[in-house]
Amino acid sequence: MKDFLSTLGIKSVNAGTSTGQEFLKDESAARITSFTPVDGSEIAEVFTTTRKEYDRVVEKSQEAFKDWRMMPAPKRGEIVRQIGLALRRYKEPLGKLVSYEMGKIYQEGLGEVQEMIDICDFAVGLSRQLYGFTMHSERPQHRMYEQWHPLGPVGIISAFNFPVAVYSWNAMIAAVCGDTVIWKGSEKTPLCGVAVQNIIAEVLKENDLPEGIFGLITGAREAGEWLTADERIPLISATGSIRMGKQVAQIVGARLGKTILELGGNNAIIISSNADLEMAIRAVVFGAVGTAGQRCTSTRRLIIHKDVFDQVRDRLISIYENIKIGNPLEEGTLVGPLIDDDAVGAMQAALKQVKEEGGSVVCGGEVLENMEGHYVKPAICEVQNHYEIVQEETFAPILYLIKYSTLDEAIAYHNGVKQGLSSAIFTLNMREAETFLSHRGSDCGIANINIGTSGAEIGGAFGGEKETGGGRESGSDSWKAYMRRQTNTINWGSELPLSQGIEFDV
Ligand code: NAD
Repeated sequence: MKDFLSTLGIKSVNAGTSTGQEFLKDESAARITSFTPVDGSEIAEVFTTTRKEYDRVVEKSQEAFKDWRMMPAPKRGEIVRQIGLALRRYKEPLGKLVSYEMGKIYQEGLGEVQEMIDICDFAVGLSRQLYGFTMHSERPQHRMYEQWHPLGPVGIISAFNFPVAVYSWNAMIAAVCGDTVIWKGSEKTPLCGVAVQNIIAEVLKENDLPEGIFGLITGAREAGEWLTADERIPLISATGSIRMGKQVAQIVGARLGKTILELGGNNAIIISSNADLEMAIRAVVFGAVGTAGQRCTSTRRLIIHKDVFDQVRDRLISIYENIKIGNPLEEGTLVGPLIDDDAVGAMQAALKQVKEEGGSVVCGGEVLENMEGHYVKPAICEVQNHYEIVQEETFAPILYLIKYSTLDEAIAYHNGVKQGLSSAIFTLNMREAETFLSHRGSDCGIANINIGTSGAEIGGAFGGEKETGGGRESGSDSWKAYMRRQTNTINWGSELPLSQGIEFDV
């Protein structure tokens, strides 16, 4: 067992269910084997959660909620502060595990843990706010205000590509809001879930807190469906593919539960003829090949002005040819492996379709058969924006180049897909920049000027429009989605006037 795995409490076989400090392990349950995409070898096994264990986690979560919601929010913030400190202590081993189990380079693994730490800090400050508005009543000697109450147990379903950060965006904010949480991570990265739970359990023990505040379940789609169908869970925050989001929305919607949906993107950068091209190209490369194209915010389409098209394409090809692909834990590697063979197959199928639809692969795309693991060369393709394959999010490093003549045309291409997560324009022309941010500009949840599509800061609300699901997480006032709003009116006078001047004398 590698050192960083033992430091995180990972064993060769692990319990995958927890009510907080206590781990549950039904030896008859199915196990998930976690393989590293680095070389395809087995890391360890995790027991999946049985239906009986799931019910116990939910019951504990409901019980804990009764006390947790009554603890003053800044005191809950103090627990989250301590979780942030624990994450600082485990930053390196956890960053390594993220890299080893998911395949992103170590620097990005560390970045993911840093994001967890940042969100803890943000949530601590938030725990002293959670503010509501006051309004002036139309009735004399009346006062009106609104306040926010916690919801109850919150179900968090997360994707493989951000195996720890997305959990903390939800869990730390929900926790200061007074909710308890139940996390189902991706079946492709179950050890990240176990490791984070071990770290949180230490803090819960040190503070002598009851079971049920932070729960964990492990499993594939079925475990996610238990959460979505469960009327005891008022809010489901689900991160993953659009296919998954549509299923979750229907099931939770049918029981009139609440959802936060963070789904796929098809993000584009417009490069104008007025761009600082060197800066634009650096941002494009990070956005397109970073995390091997497996970020929801990865740059997938590049909409380039015809006057600079050839220059941008040629410069990108020369950079792509020298990108270091390899073991994500080795220094200097910029592109690690894809998560599994299915992802490699999906990339190959997409490149085939590009050619069938009339496009061309101008660089990369090969599978690196001589390496153990799931390594590919990032690809660049010349296409038309209306191709069917360009409408889809292929979760792999494929960058589509599209030529435009006018800004209106570029924006029409940009918005002409079903997804609406992240977007950017590179231009030094103020009118172009402001048009992109105006009501007739980008239709995405995130729109940047002279910054790429990936690498958002936690202080802003994160999420996207259209088929990306409409949810917002992380900063700004995203916390409101984890609470219920209540309008309160207090009559401190001796009359009982009715609103709208209605007379009703009895
Ligand atoms: P996925 O949809 O296959 O799985 C995501 C999670 O949903 C997993 O935990 C899975 O077990 C669960 N799940 C699948 N079907 C379910 C169902 N019917 N009911 C309940 N749970 C279900 O996604 P993935 O391959 O793990 O991740 C990649 C996708 O996630 C990409 O589309 C990416 O863009 C998206 N993503 C979006 C964001 C965002 O913030 N918008 C962030 C990260 C990833």
